[in-house]
Amino acid sequence: MLVHKVLVVGAGIGGLGAAALLGQRGVQVDVIEARPDSAVLGVGINQPANSLRALARIGVLDECLRAGYSHSGNTFFDWHGNLIVDCPSRLGDDIVPANSALSRAELKRILLGAAESAQAKIRYGVTVETLADDGEQVLVRTSDGASELYDLVIGFDGAKSAMREMVVGPDHDPVFTGYGVWRKTVRRDPSVTNTLLFQGDRSKAGVIPLSQESMYLFLVTPEPGNPRHDRADFATLLRARLAGYQGIIGALRDGLDGPEGIVYSPLNEVLLPAPWHRGRLVVLGDAAHMAAPHLTQGAGMALEDAAVLAEELERGTDLDPAMAAFMNRRYERVKLVHDASHAILVGEMAIDAAAIPTASEHMRETLPAQTAAVEDALNRPF
Ligand SMILES: Cc1cc2nc3c(=O)[nH]c(=O)nc-3n(C[C@H](O)[C@H](O)[C@H](O)COP(=O)(O)OP(=O)(O)OC[C@H]3O[C@@H](n4cnc5c(N)ncnc54)[C@H](O)[C@@H]3O)c2cc1C
Repeated sequence: MLVHKVLVVGAGIGGLGAAALLGQRGVQVDVIEARPDSAVLGVGINQPANSLRALARIGVLDECLRAGYSHSGNTFFDWHGNLIVDCPSRLGDDIVPANSALSRAELKRILLGAAESAQAKIRYGVTVETLADDGEQVLVRTSDGASELYDLVIGFDGAKSAMREMVVGPDHDPVFTGYGVWRKTVRRDPSVTNTLLFQGDRSKAGVIPLSQESMYLFLVTPEPGNPRHDRADFATLLRARLAGYQGIIGALRDGLDGPEGIVYSPLNEVLLPAPWHRGRLVVLGDAAHMAAPHLTQGAGMALEDAAVLAEELERGTDLDPAMAAFMNRRYERVKLVHDASHAILVGEMAIDAAAIPTASEHMRETLPAQTAAVEDALNRPF
């Protein structure tokens, strides 16, 4: 390995994946996490086949599949439940299914187990205070008073990354898209066996199966001005935004009885220009690239980053060319996800109630080929 001692900043999905993959290769890995513990939001996460392949490289594929609900593709309806088009997924192969969705808590538990089994040492409630890269090593002082030398510091510190500015400088903050997502885990309706999407009046609802018992409901909506909603109002706000939906989504709306379990997330985007590293510092995952969640590829892109970095650090003879090889393998693929996700978000949010019949016709004609093109690219080895 080109590195022997690494600091990973952020014990999220990508950070834990990187800690496991590097630890398994004999690297001494410290992980620092700003939060006081490993708790995560109580909602679900879909893992498409390429993400499952990254989880396989970590050695946790079977565990993830057992914890989740494997399914194929998306079926599109309008908000009154009329079928628009079925898009069976082209992802997957004999080893991995097209998709497997699971609770975020389960994914976190599994990745944490993999990182700890690989001897990574995780400290909670700790952040970076200062970094000094002298070209040979990085001296890192952390908020718990520790000072250590590392061969590489990996910023996997998510959307609000502090590492981003330290690596690529200012002016790269994520940009609010104008839209947000509402989510809640609910009891699975037996008819929900893959992702069902419902086009509404400048909004889109959906359900994704998470297990035999549970599924998750989501709604994408315009949120002009990036409001800070009061949690106590979540049920009222979500119910109002779901007005007009019939069928399964209408029934879920009518069953909303309080704010408990509802999560609201503004949708932000960022795609750092290449390279994502400077000297012995690198930012990966959401810290470097955050797309709208429409292809459910965020965790997959973070885990692929981790897997490719570990491989290039293992096969390389010098750090600079290894990092250049990493960037070569990552940038276009991440940009594809970023651009395609943005196009879907903007396109669906432009459809108002009156335009749903013509938009449905257009989706029927164009969506299968568009989806196939993106999925064929993502199904190729990363
Ligand atoms: C509404 C919505 C739905 C989504 N659905 C999906 C989906 O179905 N499938 C999918 O693959 N992706 C989905 N995503 C995206 C996915 O959650 C992210 O892309 C993924 O979590 C990125 O992993 P990461 O490790 O880069 O960041 P994170 O998982 O966010 O981890 C970052 C970690 O860094 C920590 N941290 C932050 N600042 C510091 C600091 N200064 N010092 C130390 N630690 C710090 C944080 O506390 C956190 O633990 C969705 C996103 C949204 C918003």
